Amino acid sequence: MKKIFSFLIILLVICGCRNSKSNKITIVTTNFPSYDFVRSITKNSDIEVKMLLKPGMEMHGYEPTPQDIIDINNSKLFVYVGGESDSWIDDVLDDINKDDKSIIKLMDLVDLRDEEIKDGMDAEEEDKEFDEHVWTSPVNAIKIINKLKEEIKDIDPDNNDFYEDNANKYIDEITEIDSEIRDIVNNSKRQELIFGDRFPLLYFVKEYNLNYYAAFPGCSEQTEVSAKTISFLIDKVKSDNIPVIFHIELSNNKIADTIASETGTKVLKFNSAHNITQDEFDKGVTYVDLMKDNIKVLKEALN
Ligand SMILES: [Zn+2]
Repeated sequence: MKKIFSFLIILLVICGCRNSKSNKITIVTTNFPSYDFVRSITKNSDIEVKMLLKPGMEMHGYEPTPQDIIDINNSKLFVYVGGESDSWIDDVLDDINKDDKSIIKLMDLVDLRDEEIKDGMDAEEEDKEFDEHVWTSPVNAIKIINKLKEEIKDIDPDNNDFYEDNANKYIDEITEIDSEIRDIVNNSKRQELIFGDRFPLLYFVKEYNLNYYAAFPGCSEQTEVSAKTISFLIDKVKSDNIPVIFHIELSNNKIADTIASETGTKVLKFNSAHNITQDEFDKGVTYVDLMKDNIKVLKEALN
């Protein structure tokens, strides 16, 4: 953190100059969901949207660069999640210019859930914290977009109808996804998912009343899984006749592959949408696209 502050002092001077040069409104976001939601609302507008996390990067390993801090300082709106991985932000926000800047924390916009440690998980008993992966529930995504929309309308009142329209179109797509998922869950053979991986999908499974088992809770930093957890998950797959083992994006799939080789199940990816690859980013992949992929694999895993 000290490193950041020494940068700050020098850089905020530079920022002052930069600010006066450009009238363009910029919105800075941290991870992919916050970027995607803002992008959908401001699509085809003059607002510039930046994502601090580079495509393909692991969200929980992110550290701000000096340029990132300049960008936050110069932004009209800064959007971040507000969980454990964003703890650096509080220090940065103490030091930057907050006049005429809106700051939105996604975790302030929805009902929070405590991190959960399920049977079989390889977890260190720690102080429990709120789970930060609020965006994984499409219902939360809609709440978040509505709030972001209001904020963006305040920033650029001349184009209110435009933002309203963009946001409503995106919300309609997410509403459609939400009802498709409910449909699948209501008509499925089983209601249980198994992740041979970390489990950042608590808000998703709770939204749809799905049961789950996983190797690690939340985005645990543990990389080595215990033999006990592996054998618990293998037994679960066998006893519950589970057809699909999931891994999440940007994972090495090791645990899922091990379980699959013991049980003959299929290994599929479930998007928790922390981030996307550079290739996906270049193609313009959206949160909705990731959820549509999830719908396909969900159908397979529950039937
Ligand atoms: Zn995570």
